[in-house]
Amino acid sequence: MSGGHVQTDEVKGFPDRLGALMVELREQFVEREEEIAGALLAMLSGEHVLFIGPPGTAKSQMAKVMCERLRGGSFYYYLLTRFTSPEEVFGPLSLSSLQRDEFRRRTEGYLPQANIAFLDEIFKANSSILNSLLTILNERRFHNGNEVVGVPILSVYGASNELPNEEEGLAALYDRFLYRFFITNVQDEGNFLKVLTSTNGTSANTTIGLEDIERVKSGALSVKVDDDVLQAYLSLRKHFRSQSVYISDRRWNKTLLVMRTAAAAMGRENVDLSFLPLLQHMLWDKPEQKEGLRSLLIDLTSSGGVDLRRLQSSSEELLSLLAKAKQHSASDVQFPRPVCCYDCGSTFMSAKELCRHGESFPKHLYMDPYAREAQGVNPSYRKFELSELMHVLENVRGWKVTCLRGGAEQRLYARELQDLRTVYEKVRGAHEMERGDLRKRLDGNIWLSKRDRQDILARQDRRLESMAEIERSLKEVEAELKG
Ligand SMILES: [Zn+2]
Repeated sequence: MSGGHVQTDEVKGFPDRLGALMVELREQFVEREEEIAGALLAMLSGEHVLFIGPPGTAKSQMAKVMCERLRGGSFYYYLLTRFTSPEEVFGPLSLSSLQRDEFRRRTEGYLPQANIAFLDEIFKANSSILNSLLTILNERRFHNGNEVVGVPILSVYGASNELPNEEEGLAALYDRFLYRFFITNVQDEGNFLKVLTSTNGTSANTTIGLEDIERVKSGALSVKVDDDVLQAYLSLRKHFRSQSVYISDRRWNKTLLVMRTAAAAMGRENVDLSFLPLLQHMLWDKPEQKEGLRSLLIDLTSSGGVDLRRLQSSSEELLSLLAKAKQHSASDVQFPRPVCCYDCGSTFMSAKELCRHGESFPKHLYMDPYAREAQGVNPSYRKFELSELMHVLENVRGWKVTCLRGGAEQRLYARELQDLRTVYEKVRGAHEMERGDLRKRLDGNIWLSKRDRQDILARQDRRLESMAEIERSLKEVEAELKG
């Protein structure tokens, strides 16, 4: 009984420790919020991270500290050159095994026995180490002599000043890094001074253990993914296809597992929309895709997938149709001869007058002003409903009579307006409900950076503004129809 209880406490305690660790690391490395979250999450989910950027941007320092915070973890660091030999990375040949005619390496203290590795200038990896490196990254195995051994690596952090050229044959290596970050020098002046004066050590010492990581990993398998997140995946897939960007199913799968791991680490049972921004560092291949991807993710997170643009453009379209109709009716000149109401005897000299009368007395019928001539001295007048009469005047007599008010045209606009209203109300309701909810989710999601939160909420504010604009257009249409 008590054993089980202790375990629950540990599970409960992990999200808090993780949060504390994140705060400490973000304090130590300014302007590296997203990189730290990425490096930690990669460690928890067994993915590798690539840092691209100039030297002196604390990349290796970050990796070292990350390993110090891993209780019981071992760290391997190496700066690769074109001439790096397998001994330097995988360990020296064992002399005793050579005497036995075997070809084995002593791997203690080298990459095959590390939990976390930092490989600087990773794209300098030459062909003598590339294959073994790929096998370690990919399969977590190492061929030692004629034995294949498992490798305990959680994450390899690779660093490079630049991306590899396409012709260098390093595409496979590049592909092994799910997480990709561009690192720049510290931008903010205050933060820069903080870096200059920092003593580089912190008194804080929150750690996580290998057993924590194991627990999170197995917890991730039972984390569910919300429907709107899956819908967002479909949108993303469509986006990349339209841009002819190829993303393998394996990569898509991995990203989903990372998100489930992120949720599990926070003690959550499902992946909601607030986790989407994590994808911004996993789904780009070429730097020029980065901004578009981020913007799309921010949009998907803030909108729940509702496309406001369509609603906006329909209401604008309706408004412009109305404006056109109005212009038409403003040019509604005087009739060449009066039109007479059969029921009350009123006469009208313009379509406007006629329509106004039709609105007030919808049941009155009218006479064709040419009927007398057409039918001789004693005509038996045919009586027309207003819409029929308009039709005759326009099409048989050739008058310009289009009048917005009254008639089928107006009913059409009114129906369209009503449809738009219905959609609008639904979207607005969902939006308002979502807003409070979204803020709460964003604030509670430790993996997000301040920048992510701000941008998502700003995007939502902008959506609320466009909602107000749509509302204004709809009101204008309404007023227009009332005349
Ligand atoms: Zn009348």
